[in-house]
Amino acid sequence: MPKRDYYDILGLKDNASQVEIKRVYRDLAKQHHPDVNKGNKEAENRFKEISEAYNVLRDPAKRQKYDQMKKYGAFTDGGQPGGFGGFNGFDFSKFSQGGYRTQRSGGGTIIDELFGMGGMGDIFSQMFDQGSRTRQERYGGQQKSNTVQTELTIPFDLAVNGGKQPVSIVVDDNCKTCNGTGAEKGAKPKTCPDCQGRGNISISQGFFAVNRTCPRCYGRGILIDRPCTACNGSGNAKGTKNLSINIPRGISDGTLLRLKGMGNNGKKKGNRGDLIVKIKITPHRFYKRKGNDVYCEVPIDIIKAIQSTKIRVKTVYNTKVELKIPAGSKDSKTFRLKGLGINSNKGKGDLYVTIKVVRRTNLTDEEKRIVNEFDNNGKA
Ligand SMILES: [Zn+2]
Ligand SMILES: [Zn+2]
Repeated sequence: MPKRDYYDILGLKDNASQVEIKRVYRDLAKQHHPDVNKGNKEAENRFKEISEAYNVLRDPAKRQKYDQMKKYGAFTDGGQPGGFGGFNGFDFSKFSQGGYRTQRSGGGTIIDELFGMGGMGDIFSQMFDQGSRTRQERYGGQQKSNTVQTELTIPFDLAVNGGKQPVSIVVDDNCKTCNGTGAEKGAKPKTCPDCQGRGNISISQGFFAVNRTCPRCYGRGILIDRPCTACNGSGNAKGTKNLSINIPRGISDGTLLRLKGMGNNGKKKGNRGDLIVKIKITPHRFYKRKGNDVYCEVPIDIIKAIQSTKIRVKTVYNTKVELKIPAGSKDSKTFRLKGLGINSNKGKGDLYVTIKVVRRTNLTDEEKRIVNEFDNNGKA
């Protein structure tokens, strides 16, 4: 990130016109050009600074984005080179259009997207033969995600009550032959000299420090002269993991559970990805679930529905509650039993009981009379 405000660097006001910007840049560039200041490090730095500021401000699109970044407080952390990770209050989503990658550990990513790939590099590559090399390296190694996703179907009751569910998944694990080192027996892996074993390197580019995967060791931090033949030096092998997953009570269908460090082995030790488990719940034959509310249907004999009755309803927690069906209750009438639905961290749901009136064919004469009376008058 720039050490200083681009407008300050050129000694311009925020609303300076393109003509002004051009004029000021020409004057300053002439004054500080490396050709007229041979061996003068200060002049060279000043020239870089001026060029960087001009390269952004002369382009209306880049300038607009820069102004926007300023507005969102991107340059308020004292101008430490080394990336955008350290400041607060800057809304990255503003720049999410146009394929901005989610990985933003290094400061370079955002700058690339804001100013176009290699946009900052262009001007320096001509003057200092620096930009093109940096650009090539930056996009050389594609980082593979270590996150593993899987789907897990659990019974209705387990979703209600919570508990443990065993699951087997296949992930990249340590190669058994080389114990994850990636080196053949007897061959000692040595620390990568380019990144000193860190797996990433920092490239300073103007006022930006860009962190990227080390191209020499591909991020592993070590170099192996004789790679393990079982894993081709990757140190990884597919392996089955048997896990017991903690299901929180009241979990709903489609919930994603993240198990930290249970995914694929990373390139470097301690870099293991997460396992994401998507929960599917087997439907219940009796209960239907909407959020934490539970719906069920209970058949009731027509005579009982006409004359009032009490029924016992089983809840999802296997308890029984008494429900009074008032006289003259019609088919499909629904009763709400407050707080007897599913209990989760999002609160307690209700149980809705819908009665299904059963019209028997074997009614006695007296029962027929009662039903007829009810059908005609709505009363027993
Ligand atoms: Zn191996
Ligand atoms: Zn390295």
